[in-house]
Amino acid sequence: MVETGSEPGRRPIASFGAEDPGRHAGGASRSGGGIKIGVLALQGAFRAHASRLAEFDVVTREVRRPDDLRHVDALVMPGGESTTMSNLLTSSGLFDEVKARLSDGLPVLGTCAGLILLAAEVLDGRPDQRSFGVLDVTARRNGYGRQLDSFETDLEVANLDEPFHGVFIRAPRVVAVGPAVEVLAEHDGDPVLVRQGRVIAAAFHPELTPDARLHRQFVDLVCHPDIWHPDL
Ligand code: GLN
Repeated sequence: MVETGSEPGRRPIASFGAEDPGRHAGGASRSGGGIKIGVLALQGAFRAHASRLAEFDVVTREVRRPDDLRHVDALVMPGGESTTMSNLLTSSGLFDEVKARLSDGLPVLGTCAGLILLAAEVLDGRPDQRSFGVLDVTARRNGYGRQLDSFETDLEVANLDEPFHGVFIRAPRVVAVGPAVEVLAEHDGDPVLVRQGRVIAAAFHPELTPDARLHRQFVDLVCHPDIWHPDL
């Protein structure tokens, strides 16, 4: 568990922009109001998420067992291997607990394998692979092809004045989105950052760059769902 500073400094996402001194890691503006954010820590790049979240006034908690979910205000699902995470979610007893909290509206940020875990439909998954189905997208595992296992590219992101550097590692390709899904960034015409209510998912790894702007958007969403988006 990582406790960071105490300055409230809450701001809605709409205030993001060139005038905002905290928009890159190391900036002075902190938000979070001391909320507790769980990071699913069964496998994958969960520690990098905790590092990004340490930019803000939030408490992070690694989630490995159902008990760890108690009192978390939001959850992050990291990159890794969605098949392995699916197995471990089941064997740890977490799957049903997480599913119940998501149904109750728990805000969640999923990155890469995390996006796959949230998706309504998964293509090229293992037959026994499970997902939570709270994000109305179809995600094809490793959808950018073996020859492009990893690539990096600058992305134009809604509500960000400057591009965000996207790191794609055996990334899922979002091949279909439902009407309730807002596309916040695209790469070559494919959605790579999407939002559906309190669910945000990226096909890339925002936690693997020092730029905490997307984590900040998530923290703001958790703290101010009403300001962030009135229909939440
Ligand atoms: N290809 C992985 C999967 O299917 C995701 C890769 C990642 O999270 N970097 O789960």
